[in-house]
Amino acid sequence: METTYDVLVIGGGNAGCAAALAAARHGAHTLLVERYGFLGGTATAAMVGPWMTFHSGRERIVGGIAQEIVERLVAMGGSPGHVHDSSDYVPTITPFDPELHKALLFEMMAESGVRLLLHGYFLDALRDDRGAVRGARVATVGGLREFEAAVTIDASADAYLAAAAGVELQQGDERGRVQPASLMFRLSHVDLEATAAYVRANPDEMRTTIPPAERTAHALTAVAGLYELWNRARTRGEVTVPRELVSFFISPYPDEVTVNMTRVVDIDPLDPEDLTRAEVEARGQALELLAFFRRDVPGFANARIAATATQIGIRESRRIVGVYTLTRDDVLSARTFEDAVARSAYPIDIHNPSGSGTATQRLPPGASYEIPYRCLVPANVERLLVAGRCISTTHEALASTRLTPTVMTLGQAAGTAAALCAAKALQPRDVPATELREMLIDDGVDLRRPAGVEM
Ligand SMILES: Cc1cc2nc3c(=O)[nH]c(=O)nc-3n(C[C@H](O)[C@H](O)[C@H](O)COP(=O)(O)OP(=O)(O)OC[C@H]3O[C@@H](n4cnc5c(N)ncnc54)[C@H](O)[C@@H]3O)c2cc1C
Repeated sequence: METTYDVLVIGGGNAGCAAALAAARHGAHTLLVERYGFLGGTATAAMVGPWMTFHSGRERIVGGIAQEIVERLVAMGGSPGHVHDSSDYVPTITPFDPELHKALLFEMMAESGVRLLLHGYFLDALRDDRGAVRGARVATVGGLREFEAAVTIDASADAYLAAAAGVELQQGDERGRVQPASLMFRLSHVDLEATAAYVRANPDEMRTTIPPAERTAHALTAVAGLYELWNRARTRGEVTVPRELVSFFISPYPDEVTVNMTRVVDIDPLDPEDLTRAEVEARGQALELLAFFRRDVPGFANARIAATATQIGIRESRRIVGVYTLTRDDVLSARTFEDAVARSAYPIDIHNPSGSGTATQRLPPGASYEIPYRCLVPANVERLLVAGRCISTTHEALASTRLTPTVMTLGQAAGTAAALCAAKALQPRDVPATELREMLIDDGVDLRRPAGVEM
């Protein structure tokens, strides 16, 4: 296997995949290194879905590789596409089948000429005599290997490479506390007609503006509530999960749902003992929840666990300190930037790090904010870009930027910028923002601002 590339991407989650695809499609000789035997990261290994959200009001604000993935999944029967969110949290949600997503990502890598190294575990950063990143040391089934590249992209979500390269980092809120972790699971053999009948007969049991009479199985894309059933089980001591409501989402299949309800609090996901405790605790919670659904929730009497995720989902860990750090005010004031590379309208939603409850702060209706390229560029280390969950934001801004459609767009931006750097011998911080934005717009990224929005 070759050891020298134009672009090296560490981490094959959705950010890393979009980065590798974008770099390769722009002519860069690209290697993608992933620790598992499949791609997709949190969306597949942690089975987190549905994707939220490609829209602000009625406007689609996410395009490019993210939208291409959705369209191809729809064509494969692996997603219904963007559907109305019946729980009124966001305008649309995008359910998908994680197994078909895994297969699609391999297909796209092969088409675009991305070289893949699976079961490759990033260990350490290689640095040149000026301290710039020149590549990475990776543990493989064949022993240690070193790979070099003009530009390396850290898409590990936990900023492993950035940390090893001496990039300044932050973690969690002002006390270092991070959002809780959740193990996702899917329940099959579900009869949503019966669930729909229950929320028609008990209108206050569901958080929705859908009139009771219109709550059909087809209309129930996201169910949040079932407060009476949940509180009764809690009072009886039958469920102990620190959650305030029942929450599940449809899948592409009529008899299967994705449950987002386990919650392990007070963990540091980068502490090996905490992470171990989280996996064990969450699997116990999943069984407790299975019993609750079967016993108490109409439509779930015959439900089975179709799958639990390979690993617990980590909402938050470390972030780099970049040339610019996106803040809560930038998000909530729908700020625009000259070097914007992504748009999002997702609210700031912070799951309580230490208990139940989720605090939500929203943008004005129909608004969206932008994320500048400078959030992907480490402040103090060269030849390195960062994409996905670990870009430069505050704890609060991360609670919005971490969503999948956004990390895919950030990945596409990082990969495109890295290809530019490799072709023109530029440092990431010197990439001309206008040229990068033009390339992204040409590649379908929805960066055009609606008329009337000022910079
Ligand atoms: C419980 C939970 C619920 C969520 N809910 C939603 C939701 O409803 N909708 C939504 O859109 N988003 C949701 N999110 C957020 C979203 O799923 C993630 O933030 C996003 O997928 C992160 O993408 P990423 O590419 O940055 O990181 P990841 O997908 O985590 O990718 C990182 C990749 O790097 C690899 N890696 C890590 N370390 C190494 C190493 N040392 N060597 C090699 N490879 C390595 C990992 O295996 C992984 O493939 C949720 C997240 C969680 C955890």
